[in-house]
Amino acid sequence: MSNKVLQGIAFNNEVRFFIADSTELVNTIHQKTNSLAVASAAMGRSATISGLMGLMLKGDEAITTIIKGDGPIGQIITIADSHGVIRTTCSNPHVEIPLKANGKLDVSGAIGTNGMLRVVKNLNLKEPFVSEVPLISGEVAEDYTYYFSSSEQIPTAISAGVLVDVDYTIRAAGALIIQLMPNASDDTIDKLEKSFYNLPPISSLLCDLTVEEILATTFGDDFSVLKESSLEYKCNCYEEKFIDSIRLVEMHELIEIKCKPTVECICSFCNEKYTIDTDKL
Ligand code: ZN
Repeated sequence: MSNKVLQGIAFNNEVRFFIADSTELVNTIHQKTNSLAVASAAMGRSATISGLMGLMLKGDEAITTIIKGDGPIGQIITIADSHGVIRTTCSNPHVEIPLKANGKLDVSGAIGTNGMLRVVKNLNLKEPFVSEVPLISGEVAEDYTYYFSSSEQIPTAISAGVLVDVDYTIRAAGALIIQLMPNASDDTIDKLEKSFYNLPPISSLLCDLTVEEILATTFGDDFSVLKESSLEYKCNCYEEKFIDSIRLVEMHELIEIKCKPTVECICSFCNEKYTIDTDKL
């Protein structure tokens, strides 16, 4: 199963791109959260885009993205760092809603069209950078596109998709982010609009093509790959973290917990179960 990210420049060095085949990552998200199809698609799209936004950062900087719409999935939270390490979760991974009339998963129906996308960047400054934009469509890629143009003033085109198989495993998942450099000419903008908007959904492209072939489909031979990396699912939970948080409860609750020999904690991100000996509390 594939897991590959390429970043580089194209069209006379006037655009930069990030492309991910995140099939393996989204399969792990599906396994960790036991998500059904539409939640896998919604989380997979957001996690892949957030993962690429993490790779745009430096050093030990990190990003948290929160999509909170009025749909039944609740909120989707993703945390990603500059090394491509990601964890993600949503309030209701078992949401089931009918397919759209065109037979596709109804991601905007699950997320909702009223709500917001919040981006929190921890850039190791005194305060994190926090920005919030309203949801444009609830289809994820459009919402992040709007975030880039509105909050970061970077003209950006994003395609993100997840193809879920009948057994709920992930057949293909990925995202392509293209951003105009400040020196981009009108000719390049025209070329990009034509090629990007004629591009089939990235999840169907990834069923037959490699990320390199998708770049060639998008940019012809006018692109250079500058860096290759990957996106990896990794949760940062461990037993002491839960012990510390249990110690923060009210004294009478703590006494109640300690009446039993063990207490069970489940990580809200990766669903890892910890059976903690209450003598340690
Ligand atoms: Zn965890």
